[in-house]
Amino acid sequence: MTTTAPSTKINQTKMEEFDVLVVGAGVAGVGGAYHLSTQRPNSSFVVLESQDHFGGTWWSHNYPGIRSDSDLHTYGYRFKPWTGPPIATAEEILKYMGEVIEENDLTSHIRYNHKITSARWSSEANKWFVEATKTDTGEAQHFAVNFLWMCQGYYRHSEGYTPEWPGMSDYQGQIVHTETWPKDLDYADKKVIVIGSGASSATLVPAIADSCEHVTLVQRSPIYYGTGRNRDDLAETLRELEVDDDWIHEIVRRKILRDTSIFFRRTFEEPEAVKEELLGGVRNILGPDYDIDTHFTPDYRPWRQRVAFVPDGDFFQSIKAGHVSVLTDEIETFTENGVLLKSGAALDADIVVAATGFNMNVLGDIDFSIDEEPLVLSDTVTYRGMMFTGVPNLLWVFGYFRGSWTLRSDLLSDFVCRLLTHMDGKDAKRVDVTLRPEDKDMELLPWQDPESFNPSYLTRALPFLPRSGAKPEWHHSQDYWEDKDEIPNVDLDGLEFVYS
Ligand SMILES: Cc1cc2nc3c(=O)[nH]c(=O)nc-3n(C[C@H](O)[C@H](O)[C@H](O)COP(=O)(O)OP(=O)(O)OC[C@H]3O[C@@H](n4cnc5c(N)ncnc54)[C@H](O)[C@@H]3O)c2cc1C
Repeated sequence: MTTTAPSTKINQTKMEEFDVLVVGAGVAGVGGAYHLSTQRPNSSFVVLESQDHFGGTWWSHNYPGIRSDSDLHTYGYRFKPWTGPPIATAEEILKYMGEVIEENDLTSHIRYNHKITSARWSSEANKWFVEATKTDTGEAQHFAVNFLWMCQGYYRHSEGYTPEWPGMSDYQGQIVHTETWPKDLDYADKKVIVIGSGASSATLVPAIADSCEHVTLVQRSPIYYGTGRNRDDLAETLRELEVDDDWIHEIVRRKILRDTSIFFRRTFEEPEAVKEELLGGVRNILGPDYDIDTHFTPDYRPWRQRVAFVPDGDFFQSIKAGHVSVLTDEIETFTENGVLLKSGAALDADIVVAATGFNMNVLGDIDFSIDEEPLVLSDTVTYRGMMFTGVPNLLWVFGYFRGSWTLRSDLLSDFVCRLLTHMDGKDAKRVDVTLRPEDKDMELLPWQDPESFNPSYLTRALPFLPRSGAKPEWHHSQDYWEDKDEIPNVDLDGLEFVYS
């Protein structure tokens, strides 16, 4: 179907019209497409994806060893059983997502190589006017849609975050970032420095350690690691008993969710005991003589930052085997041949890998405007981390920092479908969230409490993010157990929703 925009700069432009436009074909967008097609079979929708393939994170990242650090029973969708070992490679996740697309005939709804550049809300038309550029031809494409479902993820896929270290231009070797890993990078028999502690480095290091001459991991400060087998005993037993995959998925999901909830509560109630358990797992592999205090004992309570899970302890096994050294230190400067650390140690390297995190992408780096006024997201207040005051007909999917992302994207998918059906029932074309009279004096806070969770990409992005309030409605919960009870029961006729 085609239509024309009423009174915008793109007036008279031919455009396609849909009920819903889903931004991104990562786990959230593909899940959203599934939920729309099953819960709202009469809605027309399109998924626009700037990459040339589905998968989002699992397609854009290709450093050696790339894998999940969540278990796939909870990271997998609730509607499609996961049948492999809990921790999965990117390739396995892509295969699983491909099956979701194929089994549910979603291919025709997804358009690849479509980078959305602008989204303009018109109150006159009660629509979003969206412009996308085809990344393969440069051609502009226009869409008019009633609802925008933002599944753009939380970081820029085109670039990683690399700090500006002094002397980088003097360095004669190669600097690469885990996020933009060159497919043909030859690291065989090379001296490699990996900078940064986190799930990415703990995944990459064991994958390359055997081939390299040596790998040195330089980290400013330690993080917590969980160690354990990449196997779920309950799932294995249920498989032996020939229980259906659907049942196994649901039972194991529930068990993992219960275990995670207990673990999370313990990190508040008995942080020292949890800390000792996590460090004990590392000590069991590295032995009593390894300096765990310096290299693997963070100075924060467990779970303040994500605990990186190392299946079968492979990262620590490669340290134990002598292929990897860990230095807890800081880069003073790059030199011609490597780096000089603040301690004075000089390290030579053929390749330096920055595993230094992300640049957050706020709403897909799309140029948003509301009735011709540029949207300043930091002036808005978030409704449960998914909608924003002053921004009609839009929902943002941002998963859990500490739990599997998909748990929240499945919950929010149900919410969008319920909201759209509620709007149909009211014959409403527009929904806004707004502060209620009782919220008038509510103190406005940063989007996330930096005391509770403070990875550096988030700290850098906080000034650009919406504000929150000290009430559940205006707070982006990071608690699945709270969300799973509250979100399905949100009263869509509450005063915080305004329909027209
Ligand atoms: C290496 C790595 C491992 C991770 N492991 C886990 C894990 O084990 N468990 C966990 O819960 N989380 C993990 N995460 C977090 C991860 O990002 C989320 O789990 C999840 O993949 C996010 O899915 P998404 O669909 O919301 O976003 P993404 O995977 O980021 O996908 C978003 C898609 O939207 C597209 N897009 C963005 N902007 C636009 C635009 N303007 N126009 C068109 N398309 C656009 C992007 O190209 C991308 O394909 C990991 C992240 C990384 C980087």
